[in-house]
Amino acid sequence: MERRVRVRFAPSPTGPLHIGGVRTALYNYIFARQNGGDMILRIEDTDSRRFVPGAEEYINDALHWLGISFDEGVREGGKYGPYKQSERREIYKEHVDMLLKAGKAYIAFDTPEELEEARQRIPNFQYDSHTRGTMRNSLTMSAEEVERRIANGEQYVVRFKIDPDRDVKVNDLIRGEVTINSNILDDKVLYKSADELPTYHLANIVDDHLMEVSHVIRGEEWLPSAPLHVLLYEAFGWTDTMPQFVHLPLLLKPVGNGKLSKRDGDKLGFPVFLLEWKDPATGEISSGYREKGYLPEAVVNFLALLGWNPGDDSEMMSMEDLIQKFSFAHCSKSGAKFDYKKGIWFNHEYLGQKDNRELAELFLPVLKEHGIENPDMDYVAKAVGMVKGRADLIPDLWTQADFFFVAPTTYAEKDVKKRWSAETPAIMEELIGVLEGIDDMTSANAEKIVLDWIAGKGYHLGNVMNAFRLAVVGACRGPHMFDITELMPKNEVIARIRRAVATIK
Ligand code: GLU
Repeated sequence: MERRVRVRFAPSPTGPLHIGGVRTALYNYIFARQNGGDMILRIEDTDSRRFVPGAEEYINDALHWLGISFDEGVREGGKYGPYKQSERREIYKEHVDMLLKAGKAYIAFDTPEELEEARQRIPNFQYDSHTRGTMRNSLTMSAEEVERRIANGEQYVVRFKIDPDRDVKVNDLIRGEVTINSNILDDKVLYKSADELPTYHLANIVDDHLMEVSHVIRGEEWLPSAPLHVLLYEAFGWTDTMPQFVHLPLLLKPVGNGKLSKRDGDKLGFPVFLLEWKDPATGEISSGYREKGYLPEAVVNFLALLGWNPGDDSEMMSMEDLIQKFSFAHCSKSGAKFDYKKGIWFNHEYLGQKDNRELAELFLPVLKEHGIENPDMDYVAKAVGMVKGRADLIPDLWTQADFFFVAPTTYAEKDVKKRWSAETPAIMEELIGVLEGIDDMTSANAEKIVLDWIAGKGYHLGNVMNAFRLAVVGACRGPHMFDITELMPKNEVIARIRRAVATIK
């Protein structure tokens, strides 16, 4: 029988979600939707030393902004819960005991000092089948002694007993079959009595099993853990329901070699987080895609193409398109360069296609920053509609459309030099008269009347129109002049011409 597709995104709340983790979440989501499966959000918070307040909420908010939703999770609930590992202690304890009872794991009392001493004594020390016989553990002590120590409150860990010389096969949907020899694995710690918590490895596979996860889709950095996970499935007798592994290619620096880091973003000026993040310990603020003025649909499209291609040359793909087209067969094994400029290109394209009214809503915070409160939304929508094709990021809309909201107080010097001569003020006064006489200011009508007047007088078309523009916009830039004067109240247009005449010398 085909297994139901169930995938999980399993972040540790150790800080804001890095863009690589976002791409992992996105691929999980796309794959779940494509297969009519379930998408789980599991919070892996068993390492209490690395817990960062606010991180869990941040992860939820960030993925929500991108349009990724979960079927099961801490917020959503679900019948496989709890979905937060710190609330599943008894489950892990039970499973550790199962391994101990079956002789697949053992208890070890070695202190940090003793481990250090072993490292000094044995070259390339690794806690494994060759060395465990020389250490202080339940394999080298009598059962009574182990019990006595535990009863005395001595701290211990539980280690996984890995058999030597076994070829362990990991089947990966992107990488194919990866084989490693068990000799390179150490007897990993699965549980620590000190905090009564499991380590990542145990909690991760126990939960994947109990939550009936069918595909483990995660970053390449987890590939080295996969053989250990395969052996754990075996030790529990769960081989038949072992999930399919998929390790996604690394995200690489835009320039140079190596893994993408936050530092690359700081240096080149792009965010590595979806939402702005304030470090609760240092107060340091890191920028986010949302606050920088990216659209979530652009970020989705950009991220989806980092490590995957549709097999043809399509570039613009909505979430729905991606759900249609996605396949691990078209994921690359090698890392994907984080071409942030491509991200800006996508945003430019999506801004250009965005509905004016929706864009106006997204533009409101920028307007507010510039002191424009409660503007007429029809006016804003029409204004952004005229300039959206020239913007990369939402704040660029202000650079392009500022004059719709504030009258110019200065005039671009080089345009003045070129377009404003001694005769201009008189012609502008005349233009005011022409505009006053126009009842219907729709673009084509006003254009016809003004151009007829210019032609009738034998004025220089370019000079008059550019002086007009200079007076209204403050520089020779912006959309079609008569589109501007259709939207802007006529008395405002006239006031601006008057001010220019009075100001420009
Ligand atoms: N908690 C791990 C992380 O932070 C999960 C890795 C996995 O998906 O197995 O990425």
